Amino acid sequence: MEQSKLNVQLLEVTQNALSVIYSAARQCYSSDFAGEIFKDNVSSDKQERFIEKIIGSGHESPLEHVKFTFAVEGVSRALTHQLVRHRIASYSQQSQRYVTEKDFEYIVPPSVEKDENLKKEFKNIMDRIQKAYNEILETTSPQDARYVLPQAAETKIVVTMNARELLHFFEERCCTRAQWEIRKLAYEMLLICKRELPSVFSMAGPKCLKLGYCPEGKFSCGLAPSKEKALGR
Ligand SMILES: Cc1cc2nc3c(=O)[nH]c(=O)nc-3n(C[C@H](O)[C@H](O)[C@H](O)COP(=O)(O)OP(=O)(O)OC[C@H]3O[C@@H](n4cnc5c(N)ncnc54)[C@H](O)[C@@H]3O)c2cc1C
Repeated sequence: MEQSKLNVQLLEVTQNALSVIYSAARQCYSSDFAGEIFKDNVSSDKQERFIEKIIGSGHESPLEHVKFTFAVEGVSRALTHQLVRHRIASYSQQSQRYVTEKDFEYIVPPSVEKDENLKKEFKNIMDRIQKAYNEILETTSPQDARYVLPQAAETKIVVTMNARELLHFFEERCCTRAQWEIRKLAYEMLLICKRELPSVFSMAGPKCLKLGYCPEGKFSCGLAPSKEKALGR
């Protein structure tokens, strides 16, 4: 039984993503057919400028035609419980019914990691849970034995989100108000998205970047001004 580390890999992104978004967006304003616009030899520079403009105006539906698929491991069940609340996405998660956890890995929160005594106690609890799980598994099925497993148990998940949902996901989960583990995952995904599609994701991040102020009131981290201050009230 070991501690586990976050690993995020991009499995696939929609081919010709820039041209797909560009054609879909142009279709809205042109009498030409998107099928023809897609084949036009438009420079990526021109496509990028057009896409930045439509995102700036809030016309985001063309972004839904581009999808990113990530393979994620080294995350806790506490994280995936939050992740799967994002509904405009597809998920395939390692099952605790079909995969036994006879030697489960687990995630240690940083606040526990930095305290030697707490870390020892945490590991001790994980060892006891492992023992209990293995004992229960001798007389019952993995689907019932899993009831004693902790939220810290490591899991693997494949996530597909379209670019519009990703922007929303980053607004919520890159915020310092988000829980530390899902924030770490969100930033890893954001790095990949910025590399793959900079015209869409270069300005992506916590919602204060888009709003120009923080809507979190007394929970604000203080990096962005309050709404009142931003509006000069
Ligand atoms: C800091 C933080 C703290 C949180 N704390 C809690 C908590 O204590 N308890 C808790 O239960 N949850 C909590 N959540 C989860 C939160 O309530 C949402 O379930 C989660 O962020 C999923 O995002 P979403 O609903 O905005 O959008 P997604 O599911 O990602 O959907 C994207 C957008 O599509 C639209 N949409 C999707 N489905 C619908 C629908 N059925 N009807 C109308 N519009 C829809 C909305 O505009 C939505 O913003 C927390 C989230 C954050 C970021």
